[in-house]
Amino acid sequence: MGAELGKYKQVVAARSADKEILKGAQDGGIVTSLFAYALDEGIIDGAIVAGSYEDDPNVESTASQNHHWRPKPVVVTTKAELLAARGTKYNISPNVSLIKEATRSYGLDKVGIVGTPCQMQAIRKGQLYPFGWRDVESSIALAVGIFCMENFPYQSILQLVEDHAAMKLESVKKMEIGKGKFWVYGKRGQVVQLPLKVTHKYEQPGCHVCMDYVANLADISTGSVGSPDGWSTVFVRSKIGDSVWAKAMAAGVFETQPIEKVKPGLELVSKLANEKITKNRNTLEARKTFGVGKGLRNPFI
Ligand code: FAD
Ligand code: SF4
Repeated sequence: MGAELGKYKQVVAARSADKEILKGAQDGGIVTSLFAYALDEGIIDGAIVAGSYEDDPNVESTASQNHHWRPKPVVVTTKAELLAARGTKYNISPNVSLIKEATRSYGLDKVGIVGTPCQMQAIRKGQLYPFGWRDVESSIALAVGIFCMENFPYQSILQLVEDHAAMKLESVKKMEIGKGKFWVYGKRGQVVQLPLKVTHKYEQPGCHVCMDYVANLADISTGSVGSPDGWSTVFVRSKIGDSVWAKAMAAGVFETQPIEKVKPGLELVSKLANEKITKNRNTLEARKTFGVGKGLRNPFI
């Protein structure tokens, strides 16, 4: 296990000790619990998360355009708002686009943000290169990354669920990728599992040249892979991440288990990260042969 997992200070299996958070969380409720704790302790004064267009009066909507699974980046400042944004929405939530507004319109000095590995890269670039993001460098107080193998445009996830799971998106309770399948859980208890070969054609083409699976540049990054159901694998990466994690652990926010003691463990995370990097490097090489992607390089390995 090496560069494919990025740099980290520690990695554990963890889940939230807060039953209310766990109930509607995607996995171990790590993201929601971290932000709720950081809000309570004044480590952040708000967070950018993936809300939804559900009931948004400003959206000229058809039922499908205006509902829970269409993510809308939102700034939240309370636990209730964090709870409402729990769970994974398998399409693009442009959370980074709200950073300037979080500091200006919302007047936040200490911003938490959750995002995919590519969004963590964008944040670090914004901190390194001052291209007009006023105060970003100093205002990002906690960047939480989520593992990501691939993502989907909104229209694609809509089509995928309607055509292959034979459900309307509005009747879906949860979606999940795990154990080599795409799972769709209906509100009436239906469970549909689709082989990943069915989902591939719906993915964003940009994801096919992405080399980061585990959000190497986050302060703390997390995903389900590697840990048992209901638990999450958590990488504590930066000094900020280390400090927040240590305080949260001392406050009893999380239960943890050594990653070496759980199944399937870190080996699976490493295997999937390597598979993503190898597959996408091949796509990059193939694209170069017809003149696309020249100059792109993998900054991590
Ligand atoms: P929760 O406490 O449920 O909170 C989740 C947080 O993420 C909320 O704040 C929510 O608003 C935010 N969020 C939801 N959707 C998005 C989005 N699209 N973009 C940005 N923020 C969002 N994990 C794996 O282990 N393997 C994978 O291959 C994998 N692929 C993923 C692909 C995508 C497109 C996404 C969005 C996530 C993926 N994950 C993957 C991560 C996993 O699904 C969970 O998001 C993660 O484990 C956090 O769960 P939690 O219970 O800690 O979070
Ligand atoms: Fe971003 Fe990469 Fe995930 Fe696509 S696969 S959403 S580019 S992190």
